[in-house]
Amino acid sequence: MEKKDKEHINIEVQQKIAVIQALTGRRLTITSLIAAVEQMIHKTIHLAQSDLSPKLTGVRWGTDTEEFIVYPANVTKIHQIHCLMHELSHSVFQDPSIDAKTLIRILHCVQNGEDLLALENLTFRHHYDKPSEYRAELFASTIVLETHIDKHEQLEDQRGMLEERLHKWMITIRGGNNE
Ligand SMILES: [Zn+2]
Repeated sequence: MEKKDKEHINIEVQQKIAVIQALTGRRLTITSLIAAVEQMIHKTIHLAQSDLSPKLTGVRWGTDTEEFIVYPANVTKIHQIHCLMHELSHSVFQDPSIDAKTLIRILHCVQNGEDLLALENLTFRHHYDKPSEYRAELFASTIVLETHIDKHEQLEDQRGMLEERLHKWMITIRGGNNE
């Protein structure tokens, strides 16, 4: 990536954060931020925590109407917020989701109570030379360091909801492409 590409991404990030701040008003919390993003992208966002390995700092996938984000449970609060904000950036900018095959493997892990760690040899590792990954890192660090976001908020773990929605969605996918 060239310097001008990075500058362009920085402007994009600043603009989106300004929109978020306008929507959330004076008090920026993770909950109000998520609600603002839902409003911006017209989708429902489901969040779940999971014990992830250091190599897997988060997973996000989106459908036409919903976004699913899994972020680490077993890290410090600041890192947890950073990881969540990184994945949220992919939702904000509607970056391409992971493919159906990967999702089937995620569903398998979720249904069998296996850690998503088993999936770490897939394509989850971050490639920071990729514009969408660079942007996600910039978005996350800007939120954590440059806004007054409440960093002590207790985050709700919607794992049950996520499993239920994911299961329904997978049935749709399986019915759809016969795999
Ligand atoms: Zn990423």
